[in-house]
Amino acid sequence: MKQVTLISPSKINLFLEVLGRRDDGYHEICSIAVLTELSDTITLERRTSGITIWAKNPKVPSGPDNLCYRAADLLLRHSGTHGGVSIRIEKQIPIAGGMGGGSSNAAATLWGLNLLYDLGWPREELIGLGSVLGSDVPLFFCREAAFVRGRGERVEELAALTPRWLVIANPGIEILTASVYRRLRLPLTSDKTGVTMRVLFESGQEEAALSHCFNRLEDVVLEAYPAVANLKQRLLLLGASPVLVSGSGPTVFGVMREAEMAKRVASSLVESGITAVACRTLDRNPLFLLADH
Ligand code: ATP
Repeated sequence: MKQVTLISPSKINLFLEVLGRRDDGYHEICSIAVLTELSDTITLERRTSGITIWAKNPKVPSGPDNLCYRAADLLLRHSGTHGGVSIRIEKQIPIAGGMGGGSSNAAATLWGLNLLYDLGWPREELIGLGSVLGSDVPLFFCREAAFVRGRGERVEELAALTPRWLVIANPGIEILTASVYRRLRLPLTSDKTGVTMRVLFESGQEEAALSHCFNRLEDVVLEAYPAVANLKQRLLLLGASPVLVSGSGPTVFGVMREAEMAKRVASSLVESGITAVACRTLDRNPLFLLADH
């Protein structure tokens, strides 16, 4: 195989609780992550040596700061592979939007290189390497959806919910994840709600689960960033429910009853100058479907 093209999906958090601060400085979280159709495309091509990154979007880092670069470097070194790769990234997922774009791209790079060089690494080992690159990388190896714990790297498989229409909107501001965690007043809480949410999803009580969705990080984000709070309010008024910030934001998503409604709401946001798109949640991880090789 000389070249491989992979679909690198985004995620939304239907539930995110912060359980406490750990001694290593990270926070202990409990979350339910679902994949969405809003995806990047990653094309890997064998090279005799070196790692090169190509992306049209100038905001995507083109050197060792890119998570794809770091993923390729790590896997090539750990597997003792003599060879290199050129990586082409076509971005659709908002950058630094709380949708895990960079982490998803890293997972796609690990998975793709494993195929390209016929390394035969099992998924579990790639997940282990992925967790070194970033807390959100392992969840992008889930088959359907993910129940997430630890600093985000401990992933249990979760059955996907029936595909739902979403409106995903980005107010175009930047939020540093670390600053959100820093400002968070930690509640006295346990992972009980997360476990209940998981049971609701797994037993097919999706409507009940959706009505209990929440994101603890909203306590900080909605107060500190009025643009995000206004966008959430607007989506609620337009009929989306629930409406949540994804991860630490600033992306906001709203669940819509029907495709037509989702498309209409997304168009009306776009007309008023907001980046928005209508898309569905996924019930299978497209990373494992090869587009081309
Ligand atoms: P996080 O919550 O970890 O900050 P995110 O999902 O909000 O992640 P990403 O799109 O992953 O946002 O971007 C976070 C940072 O990672 C950006 O500042 C960007 O410069 C850097 N980055 C590295 N590699 C990539 C990549 N392949 N795609 C997008 N951003 C990348």
